[in-house]
Amino acid sequence: MQKSGTTILLIYTGGTIGMINQPGSEALAPVDFNEISSQLPELKRFECKIDTLAFDPIRDSSNADPAFWSQLAEIIQKHYYHYDGFVVLHGTDTMAYTASALSFMLENLDKPVILTGSQLPIGVLRTDGKENLLTAIEIASDIKNGQPVVPEVCIFFQNSLFRGNRTTKHSAEYFHAFRSYNYPSLAETGVHINYNFKAIQYPANKRPLSIHTKLELRVGLLKVFPGMSKEWIQSCLHAPELKGLVLETYGSGNAPTSKWFLEELEEAIARGLVIVNVTQCQAGSVEPGKYETSRLIHELGVVNGRDMTTESALTKLMFLLGKGLDTAELGIYMNRSLCGEISL
Ligand code: ASP
Repeated sequence: MQKSGTTILLIYTGGTIGMINQPGSEALAPVDFNEISSQLPELKRFECKIDTLAFDPIRDSSNADPAFWSQLAEIIQKHYYHYDGFVVLHGTDTMAYTASALSFMLENLDKPVILTGSQLPIGVLRTDGKENLLTAIEIASDIKNGQPVVPEVCIFFQNSLFRGNRTTKHSAEYFHAFRSYNYPSLAETGVHINYNFKAIQYPANKRPLSIHTKLELRVGLLKVFPGMSKEWIQSCLHAPELKGLVLETYGSGNAPTSKWFLEELEEAIARGLVIVNVTQCQAGSVEPGKYETSRLIHELGVVNGRDMTTESALTKLMFLLGKGLDTAELGIYMNRSLCGEISL
């Protein structure tokens, strides 16, 4: 239920929702928030109070990076006690990375942070942006028994509300651009907003929000593929000062068993590199030892990333390495649910 007097901070970072064609070109680039709000007279009809804040510069989310996530986390922290919920307008391309990173960076979050955007700009007649934004605001301002209904970092897109760190962009074409393959949606919207209360995580204790903006940048992502050369693997594993690597393997966590490949991994782990195994498949989990091809790499000390998305595994690694944990602690925390990002 929406209550008048509820306050929402709408943070505009960029993305297709606020883009127009550049003069003399087919390419889309972001415009400022005034042009968006002029397309959205509906914003004035909400019972809740909506303040807006635009990033400078606004960006295509392909230019998102950890410094940008930190900026977002700092804005949310600065305004945390003045608003009941936050809606972040963001490009779809890296929205799942930003949502995953924020879920780790905003410790003790007990208010909604809902990311949304669109596949078509808000000025286009058939835009999906209006519905996405209006429903995201409605969800962010929803209160039950005096408490926010969804006190999590989420992505709302088309008809679904997903836990942000379980989400992946799966379509560059359709309006249902996001999926959460390994965790149920937190709400489905139609005529009503139907919350899946059992899937929503509520904080056990009320603690002040604390943000973590120190992320380790010396991490990498490596997708295994048939025919990988030794030189390619060596150049990745020997990247200067590399601290952590997400290894995207086949199926339930399987990788080649060639002697040279296993030796390269073994040597990198011995040097202190943390390697986390996640699957290239969109749904399902790493299951070490189900096949010989996964047993061998896990015996070398590769960490089981279970059913985490790549976006989650990578940002969690940045976050945990940023905390200065040692290799053993990292192995433990990668396999712990910090904010619902992993099934145990
Ligand atoms: N390139 C755009 C972005 O991520 C795509 C979008 O918003 O859908 O910013």
